Amino acid sequence: MITTTNPATGETLESYAELSGQEIEAKLAKADEAYAAWRRSSLDERSAMLLSLAEAYEAHRDPLARQATLEMGKTLSSARAEVDKCIALMRHMAEAGPGMLEPLHWDLGDDGSAEGRWLAQGPVLAVMPWNYPYWQVVRFLAPAIMAGNVGLLKHASIVQGCAAMMDAMMSEAGAPEGLFQNLAIKSDAVESIIADDRVVAATLTGSEKAGSAVAELAGKHLKKVVLELGGSDPFIVMPSADLDAAVEQAVLARVQNTGQSCICGKRMIVHADIYERFRDAFYAQMQAVQAGDPMDDGIDMGPLSSTDQLETVLEQIETAKKEGATLEFGGEVQDGAGAFITAGVLTGVELDSETANAEIFGPIAQLYRAQDIDEAIHIANAIPYGLGSSVWTQDADEEERFVRDIESGMTAINQFLSSHPVAPFGGIKKSGHGRELSHLGLHEFMNLKTVFRP
Ligand code: NAP
Repeated sequence: MITTTNPATGETLESYAELSGQEIEAKLAKADEAYAAWRRSSLDERSAMLLSLAEAYEAHRDPLARQATLEMGKTLSSARAEVDKCIALMRHMAEAGPGMLEPLHWDLGDDGSAEGRWLAQGPVLAVMPWNYPYWQVVRFLAPAIMAGNVGLLKHASIVQGCAAMMDAMMSEAGAPEGLFQNLAIKSDAVESIIADDRVVAATLTGSEKAGSAVAELAGKHLKKVVLELGGSDPFIVMPSADLDAAVEQAVLARVQNTGQSCICGKRMIVHADIYERFRDAFYAQMQAVQAGDPMDDGIDMGPLSSTDQLETVLEQIETAKKEGATLEFGGEVQDGAGAFITAGVLTGVELDSETANAEIFGPIAQLYRAQDIDEAIHIANAIPYGLGSSVWTQDADEEERFVRDIESGMTAINQFLSSHPVAPFGGIKKSGHGRELSHLGLHEFMNLKTVFRP
């Protein structure tokens, strides 16, 4: 059984029966059968399928959003915005996808020509996290449909209701059976699926630990893998920055989704000349953040996604203190059964400590002082992750230095980083490899067949 719990109240929500080996086999057979037909579908059919799916999500926007809020505690307003973003991606892929699959051409001179054709590859397994329970999956699903592939979802255990609703949306949209199937399984069943000859690849969004486990399995069975893993993004503020905007966005970056976002600044690195001004305003705004019932409009953040997640963040705060860091405020557990924690700030974190090198998945910021741009970049790059970054400066030379020298897959200038349905998304170092979204994401699980002609 996989049991879900409301993290705002501690109440049990639902129990889902885990698929048996036989049931998994039936789903794999269905995926294989669906692929045999879907790979031959026209690009127009794929676009139409995506548009129907977008309509189904639009019609069920509120129940979808409520389910996410119930299961993982994000605010209802942010859950609605997440569903809207999924719809935007489906529509974008329906419209722009066919153009991304135009054949490529090379003139080989006396040797003739070569053409590159984008072909489907087969069923792909997606292992997904709970923090954006729809968006993470749709980032995989929309391109999979356009590619002519089919999808199998192993969603995070705590959002099985969201996973079941995504499955239902496929039927609602009139999708062929097997085009996308939710597998109610725990992580121990993942190996047999990756090993299965009918499954051609895997994509995982999640922690470094889970990414490493799935990459190992994919390597063993020679399957391609895309990994979107954790991060501890730098948020660098230089003296020329619009300080008010930087502070406001730093707070938002750290508390949106109760700090459970892979991107979004987790380490605030501030130039010495403006450090005190930034710090005072940042502390005041972080202390003003209101946590509460995520179903209520008007609160800033809900609980963490589970009591396990709360325990993890509390342990990380204790480790930071043991390592000599100071918890300036926050990190307090609120009364009641919910997994609530107040927003907080750590200072004095040593770069070689466990704390500096870990991802804190909760509303606890780390604040660093940098004497100059070299030190800011040094602090930014001193950790094993390289997902995103956000830099605040009005100086064009500094901007260029950050773009060139920060080791990350994405850099946002004078704004906090968030993914966009149109632009590529992904990291380097221990934040993973491969890209999602755009033509690059669409092509990840396709076969670029080179066709030679005399
Ligand atoms: P997680 O614990 O790594 O779980 C992610 C998924 O992997 C879940 O479906 C989980 O299943 C499964 N899993 C865990 N261990 C596994 C194993 N050994 N073999 C196969 N599957 C396994 O991560 P999470 O707590 O759900 O999400 C938070 C993490 O995701 C953070 O590190 C965050 O930074 C990262 N993230 C990255 C991105 C990005 O795009 N780079 C986006 C969002 C989140 P169970 O739930 O059943 O354990």
